[in-house]
Amino acid sequence: MMKRRNFLAGSAAGLGLMAARRATAAETVNVYSARHYPSDQILFDMFTKETGIAVQVINGNAEELMQRQKQEAENSPADVLITVDAGNLWRAQEMGLLQGVKSAVLEKEIPENLRDPQGRWFALSKRARVIIYSPDKVKVEELSTYQDLANPKWKGRLLVRSSNNIYNQSLVAAMIETEGVEKTEAWAKGLVANFARKPEGGDIDQIMALTAGLGDLAISNSYYFARMLNSDKPEVKAKVEKLKIFFPNQAERGTHINISGAGVAAYAPNRANAVKFLEFLISPEAQKVFADANNEFPLRADVPPAPVVAAWGEFKADPVSVTALGKNNAEAVKLMDRVGWR
Ligand code: FE
Repeated sequence: MMKRRNFLAGSAAGLGLMAARRATAAETVNVYSARHYPSDQILFDMFTKETGIAVQVINGNAEELMQRQKQEAENSPADVLITVDAGNLWRAQEMGLLQGVKSAVLEKEIPENLRDPQGRWFALSKRARVIIYSPDKVKVEELSTYQDLANPKWKGRLLVRSSNNIYNQSLVAAMIETEGVEKTEAWAKGLVANFARKPEGGDIDQIMALTAGLGDLAISNSYYFARMLNSDKPEVKAKVEKLKIFFPNQAERGTHINISGAGVAAYAPNRANAVKFLEFLISPEAQKVFADANNEFPLRADVPPAPVVAAWGEFKADPVSVTALGKNNAEAVKLMDRVGWR
């Protein structure tokens, strides 16, 4: 890996190698993607149109793709790995699946807390982990922080998915980073005591449960709420429109943020194309597609979020480095297990 990076720095031998590679695998970038949005194809087509580089995509869940890449090792055709959640990107990095990239474009556009300091992965979009609530049951003045969700006043009222989901693991990992294990564990214990039901389903199911009156407030990623507000099923839309979104910890550190992101594969056969591809994904036109298609927050300040998201207004985001979500993941999983968050 080190050797190849030196080649790319421009040594004569390196240029020879690159020419040889170009001749065999000309103008292609192979993408292993754990994102499953039809709109991602729009992005890939835009990239091909702009650069002439064909995008070959292999879809799978994050774990499958990482295991596949690991088994393929230096024979892997993967140039880019795309996945959601910094916890997954960190894991890919720890498994040696990604290589460091220096890119002035990526470093300029992507805030430092949303990328690996060694350039092994970069955020492409942001999502917030928020509170969705029934205003019939909860007054906005009663809401404040994630920490407050452990308050006994919420007993039997809180909906949240299981602990085996990485979104919750990352929320706990972020809290471990800023509050320490002990405080976080006491909090998680209180949280579990407030569950409205045994965790089941994903974030959307928690919001659906809210509409069915099975609880009063739910923890969810922001884009799911947006997606449901845009639902083409009128009966879902009507119910979800009665709910409200709350961004926790505005008077403190800010709301927990996670990312969707990508990195260049450790043995990328088309490394230069891979870097070009990542740089394209944070261009204003690509960021607009990200923002509109999945209702995530664009990384660039010059690209507005989708109208449904923009309607929520501005909020303060926790500035903690998302590397903490990976670093503290194992500790978070153990902690959630100890407090009985199933
Ligand atoms: Fe999701």
